[in-house]
Amino acid sequence: VSPEQLQKLDKKHFLHPTTPLPLQQADGPAVIFEKGKGIHITDVHGVEYIDGVSSLWNVNLGYGRQELADAASEQMMKLAYASSFFNNSHEVVIRLSEKLASIAPGDLNVSFFTSGGSESNESAFKIVRHYWKLKGQPKRRKIISLDLSYHGVTMGATSATGVPEFKKMITAIAPDFLHAIPYKTNCELGDKNDPDYDRSFRGIIEKEGSENIAAIILEPIQGVGGVNIPPEGYLKAVRDLCDEFGIFMITDEVITGFGRTGKMFGVNHWNVVPDIMCVAKGITSGYIQLGAVMMTEKLRDELNRMSDDVFYHGFTYSGHPTACAVALKTIEIIENEGLVDNARIVGEELLKGLNHLEQKHKITAKPRAIGLMGAIELFRDPEQSIPFSPTEFAALAVVEECAKRNLILRPLTFGGMNAVAIAPPLISTKQDIEKMIDILSDSISAYEKQVL
Ligand code: PLP
Repeated sequence: VSPEQLQKLDKKHFLHPTTPLPLQQADGPAVIFEKGKGIHITDVHGVEYIDGVSSLWNVNLGYGRQELADAASEQMMKLAYASSFFNNSHEVVIRLSEKLASIAPGDLNVSFFTSGGSESNESAFKIVRHYWKLKGQPKRRKIISLDLSYHGVTMGATSATGVPEFKKMITAIAPDFLHAIPYKTNCELGDKNDPDYDRSFRGIIEKEGSENIAAIILEPIQGVGGVNIPPEGYLKAVRDLCDEFGIFMITDEVITGFGRTGKMFGVNHWNVVPDIMCVAKGITSGYIQLGAVMMTEKLRDELNRMSDDVFYHGFTYSGHPTACAVALKTIEIIENEGLVDNARIVGEELLKGLNHLEQKHKITAKPRAIGLMGAIELFRDPEQSIPFSPTEFAALAVVEECAKRNLILRPLTFGGMNAVAIAPPLISTKQDIEKMIDILSDSISAYEKQVL
């Protein structure tokens, strides 16, 4: 099938996932990818790009890893599928559960498996609500998340998501989800004089009554909402708040898990242990669908306690053997190749590069990075905080300039922000980062020429 035919067939037969209006094109997809190797991905015309965002922040080990393909194929030949419903089990899901327990923070020793991030968060919401029902507190149903958070697209996950564009999907929003202002550490510590107090986690808990709150969920570092790194002390303040009111703390490590930030998990930066941790993406480096909800043995035992009120919840593909085999191999590679340390060390280069771009260009501001998770914002006038108008699509334009120079980055434009995200595979070298920063710099210069 020729590239032109693929283009037409795509246009006719395919509904693309999440594709904002300015990205939709009358003549079909912008790029059709064909193959990948290392940090590079090649389209059907043979044009090779650096993948500066690990696809959807997930292909952390890069493309074309023979070991991962072998792990999948060996497992498929040995036992392609088995369910762990009805108290059955199989070897590879047990081994993965044990491995995850050994790398997870604190006492999160138990995993429930899903096929992705949305399913993990959705499952976590059902777990906490069921727990409270078993405890005789069925009114504890409300879930509080943060503005600008992203938790996925299933009904509960969309409802918890805080980026305004998703909140607009009002006919798909479930009741009992509330949103707090991010990173108001002083409010979470009890500063009632702050004008935002009522919209902090603490203010909302007080207003709603803690007896109605099931859980707080947050990303240790917000991804899609802008690579927003919390200030020192924030996560600990939220942990203490949850303890004070006996509320579950759920962290969504779907992007930040498995080394992305230079620690195995995002919460490790602040030595905080959540009650429940949701993971996906990097667990298999995107080679196959898998997610997990990690919890304590105590919580699992409560859910499993002998009663008629059984926790009826499981996906056909919970603990899919092939996915588990790929996850085990992924974690082995992360450990053997020292990729968590590499993300930290090379990440310092990334932050330096982004800081340099802020100095060099007129429209750049607020560079930030933690490990290999970074972003820089674009303003018409950063000094006066004058943004580009939404119709200028500044971040998208810069990302398109990058694509012309064979670098894939991602615009983060939710909530009126104009940021460019950069989150390359964890195998990237300092030289790779330098190259990406150079291309980004040239692309910003090209855009500046058009608009200044
Ligand atoms: N949580 C976070 C923090 C995410 O970034 C994403 C996806 O980008 C999700 C959840 C949803 O994961 P999935 O797309 O695998 O359902």
